Amino acid sequence: MPSPTPERSRNLRKIIHVDMDAFFAAVEQRDRPELRGLPVIVGGDPNGRGVVATCSYEARRFGIHSAMSAAKARSLCPQAIFVRPRMEAYREASRQVMAILRSYTPLVEPLSLDEAFLDVTAGTANGTLAGEIAREILDRIHQETGLTASAGVSYNKLLAKLASDWRKPHGLFVIPPERGLDFLAPLLVGKLHGVGPATVKKLSAMDVETVLDLRNLSLEFLVTHFGKSGGWFYDVARAIDERPVQPSRQRKSVGTERTFSKNLEDRSVMRTTLQEMAAQVAARLQALNLAGHTVNIKARFPDFTTVTRAHTAIEGIGNAETIVALLPELLDRAVPQGASVRLLGITVSGLAQIQAASRGARQLNLLDEISDLR
Ligand SMILES: [Mg+2]
Repeated sequence: MPSPTPERSRNLRKIIHVDMDAFFAAVEQRDRPELRGLPVIVGGDPNGRGVVATCSYEARRFGIHSAMSAAKARSLCPQAIFVRPRMEAYREASRQVMAILRSYTPLVEPLSLDEAFLDVTAGTANGTLAGEIAREILDRIHQETGLTASAGVSYNKLLAKLASDWRKPHGLFVIPPERGLDFLAPLLVGKLHGVGPATVKKLSAMDVETVLDLRNLSLEFLVTHFGKSGGWFYDVARAIDERPVQPSRQRKSVGTERTFSKNLEDRSVMRTTLQEMAAQVAARLQALNLAGHTVNIKARFPDFTTVTRAHTAIEGIGNAETIVALLPELLDRAVPQGASVRLLGITVSGLAQIQAASRGARQLNLLDEISDLR
């Protein structure tokens, strides 16, 4: 039996906010070792009207930040190296990161390519600490993608997001329930979710600079001056935020892809690689209790042109053997004889839940029962 939980934390959620560190720039430094340790700016043309999308920590020391004009960035740091964004590479890394997050809970809400909220309340029902889960997530992201992330852990989204910023880069910070109010008190009101520059200005005119100042205003006063938002300001000043973690959408496909450090030329190597990937996809389908109707394969050639080929079946496709059986035909359709590839991928789409209770579904039910008992 789990040990009794203190009364006050009984209904508290466990939320993790994961945020990749200098994401685009970090992907560039990972893929191009000669850029490591240097001020790297990913964004537009410094000779034109481009802006900074992301910059490395080395560039931040010069006062460069996202959304600054690239020309200004260059005047602050003439030796900076400007790199054009490679969105496909960032999407690939993002998919890897999100897949890691989804292996902990289906309750993952991506906010952008490089950050997401997770609700791990169910995963902590057995006594595991949310901080331990977050630590493991950061380690896995680092091992599996070669990139670093930071994480914040708390009992709501507001605090979890603030916490992930606290020990950047590659840091973890936990705000336990009893520390929420004190943590917020000295922060500037502009740090609060939903408090934009116009509100900061208006509050400043009322001598309200910090969250503690804001906490001294009555609900009535706030609603009078800020309308509906006043209620939100009243709550967040008290670390109250009931917004749920909302998984973005129904999953439409399960897939994996691999970019090779050296282009693959040998067809038999392509086949074995695809077979390994089919096994991974099948394992994920099984874990999610899903089967699909279409197998897609994707190939990218050295000149970056990309093709996809699909096979749709009437029967549900859920195990590795069914996927593997379709691979020779799909490979022949996607990759001409003699061609080499820099990327291969397999996706199963047209997903539907398998009705019979699987092991995964039973585990979820069991967790529900445990949390009901507590
Ligand atoms: Mg980030």
